[in-house]
Amino acid sequence: MSNKDAIVKRRQGILFVVSAPSGAGKTSLCQELVSQVPDLRYSVSYTTRKPRPAEIADRHYHFVEEAAFRDMIKEGAFLEWAEVYGHLYGTPRAPLKEWIAQGIDVLLDIDTQGALQIRRHEPDAVSIYILPPSLEVLRQRLEDRKGDAPDEIARRLKKARDEVKNYRDYAYVIINEDFKSAVRQLEAIVLAERSRTALLDLSAVEQALMVNERETQEDR
Ligand code: 5GP
Repeated sequence: MSNKDAIVKRRQGILFVVSAPSGAGKTSLCQELVSQVPDLRYSVSYTTRKPRPAEIADRHYHFVEEAAFRDMIKEGAFLEWAEVYGHLYGTPRAPLKEWIAQGIDVLLDIDTQGALQIRRHEPDAVSIYILPPSLEVLRQRLEDRKGDAPDEIARRLKKARDEVKNYRDYAYVIINEDFKSAVRQLEAIVLAERSRTALLDLSAVEQALMVNERETQEDR
C-alpha cells in the first residue's frame, strides 16, 4: 500500500452500472476492466438462462431454476431484477451492499431496465453505455459468439435496434470499435470517478498538510 492509499480514505464504494445492446462486447470489456483495475469487483448476477458452453457457474452467473429465482424475489434478495429475452436476471443485494460499505467499488453488467431501477434507488451510481460501431458489427459479433441459436440472435438484433437510443439516459457513452481503447476509456472513467472530492475522506491528508505547515513555520 502506498503512502497515498494510507491517507486518502474512501467514504464508500462506487457503483458502476454498464449496459449495452447484446453483442456490443460489454461482458468482455467488463471482465478486462475488472482484471486491470484494482479494488473493483464484478457483481455476479443470478439468471434462469441456461449456461453457454464457455460459461462457468458462479463466475459468469449463478444459474438457478425459475422457482428458486422467484423465491429470491419474494425474500427481497435482489437489488434489481428484470426479464430479458424471456429469462430472469437479478443482482444480489447482500454482497453488493457489503462491498460498497467497505469502500470497494462494484461493477454491474446489467440491462437498461435494471439500470433504470438502480438509478432510481442509488442516485450516486455511475452509469456507462457501450455502443457497437454499427448494427452490422453487432450481427457479426452475435454470430461469432456461437452460443445462441439463430432465432435468439435475430431476437437480440431486433431488440438492439430499439435499445441503442437508451444511451441518452447514461452518464457516459463508449463506442466499442477497438477493444483496447474501449478498455482504456472505461478505466479512465473509473479513475476519474474515484477522484471526486465528495467521495473522499481527506481528513488525514489535511492533517498531514497542517503538520507540514507547522514544521515550515518552525523552520523559519
Ligand atoms: P446474456 O444472456 O447475454 O448474458 O445477458 C443478457 C442481458 O441481461 C445483458 O444485457 C446483461 O447485461 C443483462 N443482465 C445480466 N445480468 C443482469 C442482472 O442481474 N440484472 C439485469 N437487469 N440484467 C442483467
